[in-house]
Amino acid sequence: MSKTLFEKIIAREIPATIVYEDELCLAFKDINPCAPLHTLLVPKKPLIQLSHATAEDQAMLGHLMLTATKVAALEGLGDAYRLVVNNGAKAGMSVAHLHLHIIGGRPLKWPPA
Ligand code: 5GP
Repeated sequence: MSKTLFEKIIAREIPATIVYEDELCLAFKDINPCAPLHTLLVPKKPLIQLSHATAEDQAMLGHLMLTATKVAALEGLGDAYRLVVNNGAKAGMSVAHLHLHIIGGRPLKWPPA
C-alpha cells in the first residue's frame, strides 16, 4: 500500500516544520493553520482513523493525549488549547492517518462545527 502523506512526513520524504518527536509519534505545524497556533500530532503507526483503533492501540492513544499537552506547552499554548480529531471524510477528515489537531493562540468559539 502506498504511504499516506503523514507517513511521508514521518519518513522525512516530505518537508514539515517538526516541533516534537518520540518513538511513538511526531508533531508538526499544520500547513494551513486555522488559528495562530495549529499543530498536528500523529502516531507513527499508520492507523487510518480513531474508529479503527483496537485494544492494542490503547497505550498509543493514551500516549497521544499526554503528548498533546506536552506539545501544547512547547508551542506556548499553556492550558488554553483545543484538541480535534476528525473521524472519516464526512467529519472533515482529509488525510487517512489518525491525527490530533492542537489548536490555539486566540480565543476559540464553541460550538466548532
Ligand atoms: P483533516 O482535515 O484530515 O482532519 O486534517 C488534515 C490537516 O492536514 C489539515 O489541517 C491540512 O491543513 C493539513 N495538511 C494537509 N497537507 C499537509 C502537508 O503537506 N503538510 C502539513 N504540515 N499539513 C498538511
